[in-house]
Parts: sequence; structure tokens; C-alpha cells
Amino acid sequence: ATPTAVMVATGVGANNGVLIKGGDALERAQKIKYVIFDKTGTLTQGKATVTTVKVFTGMDRGEFLKLVASAEASSEHPLAKAIVEYARHFHFFDEPSVADDAPNKSKDTTISGWLFDASEFSALPGRGIQCFIDGKLILVGNRKLMTESGIDIPTHVENFVVELEESAKTGILVAYEGNLLGVLGVADPLKREAAIVIEGLRKMGVIPVMVTGDNRRTAQAVAKEVGIQDVRAEVMPAGKADVVCSFQKDGNIVAMVGDGINDSPALAASDVGMAIGAGTDIAIEAADYVLMRNNLEDVITAIDLSRKTFTRIR
Ligand code: ADP
Ligand code: MG
Repeated sequence: ATPTAVMVATGVGANNGVLIKGGDALERAQKIKYVIFDKTGTLTQGKATVTTVKVFTGMDRGEFLKLVASAEASSEHPLAKAIVEYARHFHFFDEPSVADDAPNKSKDTTISGWLFDASEFSALPGRGIQCFIDGKLILVGNRKLMTESGIDIPTHVENFVVELEESAKTGILVAYEGNLLGVLGVADPLKREAAIVIEGLRKMGVIPVMVTGDNRRTAQAVAKEVGIQDVRAEVMPAGKADVVCSFQKDGNIVAMVGDGINDSPALAASDVGMAIGAGTDIAIEAADYVLMRNNLEDVITAIDLSRKTFTRIR
């Protein structure tokens, strides 16, 4: 392709919200064999909502939610935000959603004054969080976090979590003072266009793959819904780049699509990194393409544009 053709393609991309960082990236996209999608915030809307609250001890539901929200208040994770949001509504309105005519609607509920004080907060990547409330250790996260901290997961709790996961939800376990207090179920719906894009890619001869830090069962349920067969679950944040490299082995051109800080090493390692425009700055920086519209159809647009620019018509 001539420099003019590259310039035109870059312009066409920009007009469609597909920002291309350079001609090399534009050229590589035509040869993409695998597209590896991050799950949360990329295939899914990234708008997690709490769907289930289960307390296994005698603790009051409101008290349980307040405790968990207090622990998660310092976390930037979308799961944490969903929990704090849910608990906040529960605390102020005694229900998860705000009715339009709620009498205390004007009350400032954004301040964190309603929460317990938490100290020594730490985020444990790929696992959850821990901190101290009232001098006692609280853990909020997945099984791995519980197992590593020596918390026993009783069979009835395990069964409850499995049930959540089989319906594509993420199960979040809560332990306080060494005991399993309860479980939260969080759902994050697929983007509307996700399934059709996966089907479209396959028709173009491109193989879709999913990678996620989430547990295997939830990942598989989501993958099934969207039509992806190859799923790499329970991948630690640093491991996503390794997944990309494993697909590059036979000289295959691999694209990575992601939105999170977690995804930036994988975006950088891939041949064609595509960041969701609504994602974090670090991901956008690491990528070759930025999909400004936050619409997965633009993955197809990007590949199409490259093919049309570089494939010579004989
Ligand atoms: P993803 O690829 O889904 O963004 P992460 O590596 O961010 O994965 O998280 C993996 C898993 O670790 C989550 O599915 C969740 O089980 C657990 N986790 C991480 N952060 C938190 C948190 N703040 N609260 C509860 N669980 C968490
Ligand atoms: Mg993500």
C-alpha cells in the first residue's frame, strides 16, 4: 500500500472511532489469526451488579453488607464498586435500588461516613482484598484467597458458590475473624453486540479466545453464551501476557482486546493490541488501536480496514 492509502485508512478509522497508532499496526491487523478477549469490561459491559446476598451466620443482612462495603471501600475493582453501591442503597433506602419518589432522595449518600473504619487495607491481585475492621481481619474475594488464608469453605457454601458460577455469576466469599460469613453473587451482562462479533470473526477465519482472572465455571458460562470455545480462566494479572505469547508460538499474529490495567502487559505483548476507549489510560497507552466507541464491532472494522488497505486485488 502507498503512504497515501495508509493515511486514508487511518482517516477512515478515525472517523469511525478506531484510532490507529501507526502504519505498522494497520498492516499487521490483516494477518490476525487469533483475537484474545479479556472478559470483564471487554466482552461484558463492565457494569457489575450484586444479584445475590447470602449470610450463613446469624448476622443481620444490613450489617453484613455494611461490613463488606467497609472492607471494599478502598478498592478500585469493579466488583468492589458494585458491592459498595449495593450496600449504600441498602443502607440508606433499605432496598438495592432508589425509587424516584424516595423521601430522602436529596440526602448526600456519596459520603463514606456510614461505613465502619477499616485499616491496613491491601488489594491482593487476582484474589480479592483484606483489611482490619474493629481489630479483626476481614477477607473478601475468591476461593483462592480463602484457601491461601486457611479459611475452611464448608460444603454448603461451596455448593452455593458453584450454583452462582454455573449461572455466569461471580461468587465473592466473605470471611471475618477466621469464619466464613457469607457470599455475594455478582453479574456482569455481555455487551449487546458481543455474540454477533464473535460469529463475524469466525466467518473471517479468525479464532476468538477468552482470557480472564475470574474462575473457570463463570468464565465457561459466559464463553458459552457468547460463543467462544477456547477459554483461559483463573489467569493471574501477570499471566495474560503469557497467554498471548503461547498463541504466538507458531508465528501466528495475535490480537489482544482489553480495557484494564491488568490487560496492559498482554496488550503490549500482542502483535495488535486493541484497547477499549472507555478503559484505563494504561491500557490505552499500551495498545496499537483504541476503540473509542466501546463497541466490539470495531474489532471487525479494524481488521477489515487493514485487509482492504493491504490486500492487493489481483
Ligand atoms: P478480571 O480478569 O476479571 O479483571 P481480576 O484479576 O481483576 O480479573 O480478578 C480476578 C478475581 O479476583 C475476581 O473474579 C474476583 O474473584 C477476585 N477479586 C479481585 N479483586 C477483588 C475485590 N476487590 N473484591 C472481591 N474479589 C476480587
Ligand atoms: Mg477487563
